[in-house]
Amino acid sequence: MHNSSKHLKFLKQFEMMRRLWLTPELAKRIAEHGLEDYPHEACGLIGGVGEQARSIARVKNISEKPEHTFVMDGAEFINAMFDFSKRDEALIGIYHTHPYGDHLPSQVDMREAQYPDVAYVVVGLKNRQPRVSAWEIRNGLAEPIDIIISETEPAPAPPVMSRAQVRATVIALVFSFIFVIVLALSLLPPAPPIPTR
Ligand SMILES: [Zn+2]
Repeated sequence: MHNSSKHLKFLKQFEMMRRLWLTPELAKRIAEHGLEDYPHEACGLIGGVGEQARSIARVKNISEKPEHTFVMDGAEFINAMFDFSKRDEALIGIYHTHPYGDHLPSQVDMREAQYPDVAYVVVGLKNRQPRVSAWEIRNGLAEPIDIIISETEPAPAPPVMSRAQVRATVIALVFSFIFVIVLALSLLPPAPPIPTR
C-alpha cells in the first residue's frame, strides 16, 4: 500500500472515533497504575483497533515534577509502539493521572497534547477514588469522548456526520426551502384585475 493512502486510512479510522471502549480489566489496570504511582502522575499508552482498546502499556514518567506533570520516557514510548504494531494494534489512547485532581484535562494537558487523533484518558485520583474521562484534544481545545467500560462490545454508535456531510445537508435544506417558496409563489392565484371604471 502506498504510504500516503495508508496514512489517510489511519486518519479515517479516527475521524469516526467519538468514543473509547475499555474492558473493565483494562480500566482496572489503568486505575491500579495510578494508585501505585501515587502521589506521582502515572502515564501510559492504550493500543487497540478503532474504538476498541486491547492493551495498555505503562510508560515511565520522567518529569522533574512528577507530582504535577508527566513526560513520557521516549524509549519506553517507542517500545510500546513496536509492541502494538506487532499485534496489529494502533495507538488509540494516552492515559495519565491527576493524583490530587479531577478527571478533566489541565491547561498544560491541552496545550501540550500532540496527538489530535487519539483519546486522551485522564484519571482523577482525588481521595484515591479513580474517576476517568476521555478527550479529543485538537489545537489546544478538548472535546469529550464517550468512554464505555464494558465486557461486551457496545452497540454501534449512531453515525457521526462529517463536516462535508453537514455542509451538504445545510445546502440541500436551503435549496429545498427556496424551491418551496418558488413553488408557493407559482401556486398563488393570479392577481385579480384592478377594477377600472
Ligand atoms: Zn494532566
